Amino acid sequence: MSFARRPEIRLHSQVNLQAPALEPTAAALRQVGGFGYFLDPQRLPIEGACLVLAACGHGQLHMIYACDFHTLLRPRSACSAKAMATYYYRRMRTILITGGTRGIGRATALLCARQGWNVALNYVRDSNAADDAAGEVRAAGGRAATLRGDVAVEGDVIAMFSEAEAKLGRIDGVVINAGIVAPSLPLAEMDAARLKRMFEVNVYGAYLCARESARRLSKDRGGPGGSVVLVSSAASRLGSPFEYVDYAGSKGAIDTLTIGLAKELAPQGVRVNAVRPGLIETDIHASGGQPDRAKRLGAATPMRRAGRPDEVAEAIVWLLSDSASYTTGALLDVAGGR
Ligand code: NAP
Repeated sequence: MSFARRPEIRLHSQVNLQAPALEPTAAALRQVGGFGYFLDPQRLPIEGACLVLAACGHGQLHMIYACDFHTLLRPRSACSAKAMATYYYRRMRTILITGGTRGIGRATALLCARQGWNVALNYVRDSNAADDAAGEVRAAGGRAATLRGDVAVEGDVIAMFSEAEAKLGRIDGVVINAGIVAPSLPLAEMDAARLKRMFEVNVYGAYLCARESARRLSKDRGGPGGSVVLVSSAASRLGSPFEYVDYAGSKGAIDTLTIGLAKELAPQGVRVNAVRPGLIETDIHASGGQPDRAKRLGAATPMRRAGRPDEVAEAIVWLLSDSASYTTGALLDVAGGR
């Protein structure tokens, strides 16, 4: 995430910080204007009714104003009695994560919140998990909105994007993560209903979310540009014989979508990448009837273990961030060498 100097912001140029301690008092913060809350840096950030947060520490003062700009003030001189701060700003980011309430999506949401980003969390069924995940995001410093909707239903997808923008502001990044597996079977044993649902959620759902991302992020449509990360799977290159060839094929479609959409959207300021996790310890394996699958099969991988959701989240958040500014169309394996 880049910082840009914005000395012209009047709101900020009024600030005089008391150096060297840089211990802002409630009064000093109120000088900035509009602050309803002064937060003790030792405490977790609290969402205020007027949507203003402030926290300090390590010689820096962070302010989040109206949940739009995250301002980082650094003193020019730690010795001067009344050092004027050097003002930087960065816009808060809003990230929409499909299936953001459990497993890999939830770990990604938490890591986004720790970057100071707002997170819209989509889910389809488990509202308790959604509430818990939103609570974690808020405790980590982000704003959260939970959005119920089935990614395989076009109306739900459109409503989800609109609701996210209405609640948290313009979307800057999308993680297309929601996905399902089904019980292990050879293809000859799979019925049509299973195949239909697998491709509806994992392929059609991902394409709908990708299309909506393209419509809202592309600069030629008035969007801000941004970053889209799709969650594929190492299964797309392994094929998953006798287990999930349907699932593996659905993830092959995600890889292809990533490659093509990256080329379509690069001129529009939108980067599109995918991560391909290996065996990660989440509930998805239980939903396929094998709760111990990741641990069991993970022991036979080159790293001799399954991965954790937060290890995948690190890769996703890197791809979302400006640190990956020249990376698009990439398929990033996060699979422990599998
Ligand atoms: P998970 O723990 O089962 O979580 C799935 C999340 O997706 C939940 O939030 C769930 O919501 C949501 N979801 C499921 N179907 C949905 C739908 N139709 N519409 C909207 N949301 C839906 O799964 P995970 O293991 O974190 O997997 C996340 C992604 O990583 C998937 O695309 C998966 O294929 C991929 N992946 C996982 C692994 C692994 O080993 N775990 C490996 C490779 C790739 P509810 O809580 O409401 O059900």
